[in-house]
Amino acid sequence: RDMIDIMGHELRTPATVVKLNVELLQKYINSNPDEFKKHLNRIKDAIDTEIKLINTLLSSAKLEGNKIDINSEKVDILQEIEMCIHGHARDAKLKKLKLINKAKRRTPLIYADKARIIEILNNLIDNAIKYTEKGSVTVKTGYDKEKVTVSIEDTGTGIPKEELSKLGKKFYRVDNYIEGRNLDPVDIVRPGGTGLGLYVTFSLVKLMKGKIWVESKLGKGSKFIFTVPLYKGQDEKTKKKISLNMFERMGLKK
Ligand code: ADP
Repeated sequence: RDMIDIMGHELRTPATVVKLNVELLQKYINSNPDEFKKHLNRIKDAIDTEIKLINTLLSSAKLEGNKIDINSEKVDILQEIEMCIHGHARDAKLKKLKLINKAKRRTPLIYADKARIIEILNNLIDNAIKYTEKGSVTVKTGYDKEKVTVSIEDTGTGIPKEELSKLGKKFYRVDNYIEGRNLDPVDIVRPGGTGLGLYVTFSLVKLMKGKIWVESKLGKGSKFIFTVPLYKGQDEKTKKKISLNMFERMGLKK
């Protein structure tokens, strides 16, 4: 039933927005370039939302079937944080939120799956912006001899204490924030949500041998914190194995 709800509402909403705006575009095609641009942007946003949703649904389905491949390598987490912050600049600006990068410049390399680290950062920054009406979203890093710690802190709605332990469960949403929001249907470019983003995020961090937890105060904001192992040459062994196999395969045993 949860899946049907998502299909029925979350996936259909952006598609409906695209359809409506394409119809409006036809009206303005020759007469009003500003209106034309506005509706084009709405279409782009709705498509972005749809793609994000489909990716989350796919990751979630793969996780459930144990079909997710984690290909860890050395990753420059600073670079990925910068890219993700850059990618969210427009969303933050639209809500007049400050998006602040306070990552430590000397943060060491991590051992992780790059695409999955990007997915985790995007999910957490996305949520921080989505559940914050004013103030800021700040990304920080810390590190010790074993791990890098990344935190994404917002000044948003916050999460009630009794709900914190339930976060990361499949389809779980703290639903009281969504109610009472009176948005014009055409303006809904970001659908309510699926309750799958954190399930995917929490599962991916654990698969990469990290930890994730949340600190939050209702009405003040939330802080999502996760750790990932440092890069210490973990992939050297596998690399050697692969190249040896290649020699063997070509009949050129050393
Ligand atoms: P959704 O698609 O509903 O955003 P998520 O799995 O990403 O799904 O998040 C689950 C729920 O956790 C959200 O519905 C929301 O209630 C709560 N939540 C997640 N991130 C935040 C945040 N930064 N601030 C407040 N609440 C949050």
